Amino acid sequence: MQDLRQLLDTSRKVVLTCHVNPDGDAIGSLCAALLLLRRLGKEAVAIVPNAFPDNLRRVPSSGELIVANTNRSKVTTLIAEADLIFCLDYNALGRAGALSEMIKESKAPKVMIDHHLLPEQFCQVVVSRPELSSTCEVLLRLEMETGWAEQLTREEAECLYIGMMTDTGAFTYASSRPEIYESVLWLLRRGIDKDELYQAIFQTCTEGKLRLTGYLLYVKMEVMKDCSAALITLTNEEYRRFSVKNGDTEGLVNLPLQIGGIRLSVFLRQDTEVWGKIRVSTRSLGDFPCNKMAEEFFNGGGHKNAAGGSLMSSMDEAVEVARLAIRKYATLYKDK
Ligand code: 5GP
Ligand code: MN
Repeated sequence: MQDLRQLLDTSRKVVLTCHVNPDGDAIGSLCAALLLLRRLGKEAVAIVPNAFPDNLRRVPSSGELIVANTNRSKVTTLIAEADLIFCLDYNALGRAGALSEMIKESKAPKVMIDHHLLPEQFCQVVVSRPELSSTCEVLLRLEMETGWAEQLTREEAECLYIGMMTDTGAFTYASSRPEIYESVLWLLRRGIDKDELYQAIFQTCTEGKLRLTGYLLYVKMEVMKDCSAALITLTNEEYRRFSVKNGDTEGLVNLPLQIGGIRLSVFLRQDTEVWGKIRVSTRSLGDFPCNKMAEEFFNGGGHKNAAGGSLMSSMDEAVEVARLAIRKYATLYKDK
């Protein structure tokens, strides 16, 4: 951690970034790190590549986040003038969306704090802990090791808890390591109300989102029983029929796993920003390796039970690829 301390000692302007289509862990770690750095006396700003879901507005300081794709010139200046750049919750430059090129061109040293496997080498300091549940947990552990956690505020604790909670589906997966509950205990002792946070993040949505969920499950879910898999698709035309926003389809991919015997769920949706792009989300139970399937078929990667990627194709072509992938992996992992 000496390297990180040295970098911080010699930096004044710090820019924090996270991955495109930010989730609870991305926003949680971004805001927790923003509050930490200010506490350490830095001039810190936090940037998201694109918009994030409304329910994440509950994350303290999320109102200060600067959205890159709608504030391009401001963000370009901030990154160009940064003394130090933090890369939170992503392990590959390409995952920073609208920020990728700017970060690549910046001469400022970079610090990665992340929990994805196999980090790309573009940062001077890499704190990569794939065995941990979330980037928020990595950040909390780091703060415990450095002693920064001693002064952790309730707001920071809320940010960190939200990231840990969302990346584990409210502690229902990737959360059997006993140490994660030591971290939770720590945050509870900082005064967080975990029940209120659960309610605000998981049990709050718009009418449009609820109706879209119903539609996708009733009309658009194909269950491939012989492959123990389910496939859901969503086109932009359908998306526009419901009053929903970026991020409102978050978590939907998990739902088919509730069906007995289903251990793989694949969700294909047309990208609302890039024409001709299909975003792919996959979730699995047990030993089924979503990340391998995402690497082989969807130009992506991720974790064993949660991965993603994208295809440049029509929806029909993407469905063909997905069916092929599902059949191949169903055979490969038949008895696992
Ligand atoms: P989601 O399905 O929630 O979009 O993504 C789940 C996980 O898959 C993410 O946490 C990330 O690890 C991984 N992932 C999603 N999209 C991509 C992608 O395009 N490339 C890579 N390498 N990983 C991705
Ligand atoms: Mn994460």
